[in-house]
Amino acid sequence: MAEASYDPSNIFAKILRGEIPSHRVYEDDAVVAFMDVMPQGLGHTLVVPKAQSRNLLDADPSTLGPLFTVVKQVALAVKKAFGADGVTVLQFNEPASGQTVYHLHVHVIPRFEGIALKPHTGQMEKPEVLAENAAKIRAVLNG
Ligand code: AMP
Repeated sequence: MAEASYDPSNIFAKILRGEIPSHRVYEDDAVVAFMDVMPQGLGHTLVVPKAQSRNLLDADPSTLGPLFTVVKQVALAVKKAFGADGVTVLQFNEPASGQTVYHLHVHVIPRFEGIALKPHTGQMEKPEVLAENAAKIRAVLNG
């Protein structure tokens, strides 16, 4: 079956256009990072290229260098901000893989010894908690 094409009405495209709010921690010409509203763990952050693609499978390769440069910066920042023991980086492609939002994004999740990830797309976090966590990450990134 042919893959579906990019739909600019997806929720991350709306966030990138500023049509709906997000707790941003980073932005440059090519990439934005913001808090996941249904975190699988403390400090779960999403790194999103501004260029339009559904996922990795249709992404222009030129998107990936800048994207993963920021993934690394955010991974180091969340590890420091939350005193994590490690960092999980996840990326899903198409529904069979668990993808639910069809604009390429990378999950960056701080990890702590002995603490399992919560379910993918589980419970909504309180906005004030997301704001507090975003401020901690920004403090490291801007420090
Ligand atoms: P996936 O497409 O499976 O890689 O996951 C999409 C992720 O986006 C999930 O972890 C959701 O919790 C997250 N998410 C959905 N809507 C929003 C939103 N408005 N702001 C931030 N994160 C979101």
